[in-house]
Amino acid sequence: MNDADNALNAIEYAGGVIAVDSGFTRPQMAACYLLEGDGEVAVIETGTNASVPRIEGVLAARGWQPEQVRYVILTHVHLDHAGGAGTLMQRMPQATLLVHPRGARHMVDPSRLEAGVRAVYGDEVYDRDYGTLVPVPEARVRAMDDGERVELGGRELLFRDSPGHAKHHFCVWDEATRGWFTGDTFGLSYRELDTAAGPFIFPTTTPVQFDPEALHASIEMLMASDPQYMYLTHFGRVGDLDRLAADLHARVDQFVAIADRRVGDDPELRGEAMRADMYEALREATTAHGVRLQADDFRQVVWGDIVLNVQGLEFWLDHRD
Ligand SMILES: [Zn+2]
Repeated sequence: MNDADNALNAIEYAGGVIAVDSGFTRPQMAACYLLEGDGEVAVIETGTNASVPRIEGVLAARGWQPEQVRYVILTHVHLDHAGGAGTLMQRMPQATLLVHPRGARHMVDPSRLEAGVRAVYGDEVYDRDYGTLVPVPEARVRAMDDGERVELGGRELLFRDSPGHAKHHFCVWDEATRGWFTGDTFGLSYRELDTAAGPFIFPTTTPVQFDPEALHASIEMLMASDPQYMYLTHFGRVGDLDRLAADLHARVDQFVAIADRRVGDDPELRGEAMRADMYEALREATTAHGVRLQADDFRQVVWGDIVLNVQGLEFWLDHRD
């Protein structure tokens, strides 16, 4: 990989935070982050196996040796975030993998994780997007409890349990930049939907652990630290957080209402109706935000998430008390 490729694949923010485009499904869809300390560096989110050479390329271009990667950190073990962890750990011999207590065993033995993802998405999507998951040796995995901290080359990272999108999810607070690495807890904000009014944001409710009450509480937990930035996996750094948090809360409720409206409907038919409702809701909200994309281009940006969000809402409808 040459420097021009690296420039295209990475965005440098202030304070030693670099977003690396993982290449998952399309450009600017999923990020991994480098967090640079004094003499050592962490990788937050690994993307998939196919993302590992991109991370290695940006590390090398910035002068980091593989031995200087002290931590590989996963916000949760969904495979767009963690699918490359085993491969990356093989390439970074001094790194410790930091993961939520509920996710740790799935990194040591990824067979159940793979089976679960195959069950939700099907073999065709699995084989195309993810490939073989490499186990991480147990001795190199550290489960991080709620409130634990680590030091990285002079900067301190705090780990906070953040359920709602998944029960195996934590967010990571970087005191140096007053920013949270939010994984999927603080929703999705694609740069294609930026306007003069700023970024647009909406929640991710993917299967199988969406919990709206927990998600509302986790968003509040993040906002309680008075953050300056959120580093979203999907995609990049956002500010203007009071507005975005209010929008996220409102859209969690809106998505729940889209599901509630279909209680008692034929399970064979309700998914299509919910996808249409969510598309209309997002089309209306982004238009009000000033987005002027043609319908086809807009659909390219949001449709994959609408499909997954509706799958998660249907699972939630079928399994809530
Ligand atoms: Zn994700």
